[in-house]
Amino acid sequence: MEERKCLNCQEVLEGRADKKFCTRYCRSYFHNQLAKSKVDRRFKEVDEQLRLNRRILKKYNRSGKSVVRQEELFAEGFNPQIFTGYWKNQQGNTYLFCYEFGFMNTRENDKPKYVLIVWQSYMA
Ligand SMILES: [Zn+2]
Repeated sequence: MEERKCLNCQEVLEGRADKKFCTRYCRSYFHNQLAKSKVDRRFKEVDEQLRLNRRILKKYNRSGKSVVRQEELFAEGFNPQIFTGYWKNQQGNTYLFCYEFGFMNTRENDKPKYVLIVWQSYMA
């Protein structure tokens, strides 16, 4: 029979066949580390998506204001759910921002598009 080891410290396990940890300490340490690494991974994911969003918005908005087809942004990996802030103009339109680059979804000729703007000091 194969030797079973503690998933946390690799100590050889004795006793019940379904035992995975040598002590309660090892068991909770292992689960805490696992939870922590999931949180760390989420932080990294969001961080990377924000940088990617910013890079894409910058690329498609060289003039300061432009309108781009949604599929074009999505093809580059743009994810509108990840942003750093928002600004509502006097008409009640809300622009979401990734740092200094803003975007708002709209429709033009029945096609989903994004209006892109650049942050201005009056938006603060
Ligand atoms: Zn252990």
